[in-house]
Amino acid sequence: MTNEDKITKSAPMTKPLVGIPLPDLNLVPEFERGFWEGTKEHELRIQECTACKQMRHLPTPMCPYCHSLTHEWTKVSGRGTVYANLIVRQPNHPSLQQQVPYNITLVELEEQDGDIRLISNILNIEQEDIYIGMPVHVVFIAAEDNPDVILPVFVPDVDQ
Ligand SMILES: [Zn+2]
Repeated sequence: MTNEDKITKSAPMTKPLVGIPLPDLNLVPEFERGFWEGTKEHELRIQECTACKQMRHLPTPMCPYCHSLTHEWTKVSGRGTVYANLIVRQPNHPSLQQQVPYNITLVELEEQDGDIRLISNILNIEQEDIYIGMPVHVVFIAAEDNPDVILPVFVPDVDQ
């Protein structure tokens, strides 16, 4: 029996986590509203500085590159690769107790030399099979706790 035989793989996540804090779309500040307006349209939109054209995520009021206060929202492809990943087996909040194991994954988008990264989850794959550099793409799923909030999550590219 090899070490590999001893690993019991975790079932794939099939939906976003339930019971996590969600944005209140009436209170989201203007500088990050475009992100959530985008997910409602099933588009991944990233904040882009109108002065120096650098994209950034998480959204901020001021450009960290040139200090401009103006921005626009740029639709990106939604394709990327896994940059970092962990599997949570012991949740730190009671609402997550029935949902373990789940993965928290940092996805690096293909745009802008790979310095745009989103924290999300990878669905539809046994979680030990997620690897750094794995090609993924975004899908959009309504939050169970508030269907007005559309969450971006990722799935493996089928032809990887
Ligand atoms: Zn700028």
